[in-house]
Amino acid sequence: MPKVPTKLVSWDDIVEWSRGLAKKIKESGYMPDVIVAIARGGFVPARLLCDFLDVENLLSIQSQHWTEAAKVADRAIIKFPYKVDLTGMKVLIVDDIVDTGESLILARDYIMKEWKPDEVRIAALQWISPVAKLRPDYYFIEVKEWIWFQYPWTRLEDTYQFIKRMLSEEGKYKKEWSYEELKTKFMEWYDIDVGDEYFRDAIEMLVEKGFLSRIDKDRFRVKG
Ligand code: AMP
Repeated sequence: MPKVPTKLVSWDDIVEWSRGLAKKIKESGYMPDVIVAIARGGFVPARLLCDFLDVENLLSIQSQHWTEAAKVADRAIIKFPYKVDLTGMKVLIVDDIVDTGESLILARDYIMKEWKPDEVRIAALQWISPVAKLRPDYYFIEVKEWIWFQYPWTRLEDTYQFIKRMLSEEGKYKKEWSYEELKTKFMEWYDIDVGDEYFRDAIEMLVEKGFLSRIDKDRFRVKG
């Protein structure tokens, strides 16, 4: 059993899920004038929905809650608040996943209050129904047990943060690690294969950030 329940999501999955989500929106008869992507997770799905729903207007706002992969921060914030006038328009807010739902609730309330559109609906590829404080108007997949979805657009970020978290524990007892040992331990912890290119880049990033030092090409030391 992995320590953190994680599932690798491919680019093909994302296209398929976004197409399915677009179909549900179309079938409902809702025709948004503007799509608002919640940064950063909603970017790719929002862009694909623009294509599948033939919507030209795309805006974004950054509502941030999770600061590190699979670790929740205290509360959500609108990072760069700004105003646009959306009176007379129908809005579709798009995100990748509704987990706690807090970043979407904050973004929805901000958009309704400050941008004043006629109507707002919410779409997400996935909805974690047992924990979410909000049920999106449209979703493609209902997730019934909490899991971290390793989306393709956060592959490097998640991988280096996952390694860091793993070594914060495992590195207490063992300071020196070979590349292969790191990969084996990563599989034990997360049970996903992100591929060698991402794994090597993630280790490199931890070396750059000063968390690891390089002993030789394939050996590393946990600092501190
Ligand atoms: P939340 O406000 O808890 O609904 O989540 C805010 C954002 O964090 C989501 O839009 C995702 O980008 C990211 N996130 C939260 N939970 C997960 C998860 N279980 N798997 C992958 N990404 C997640």
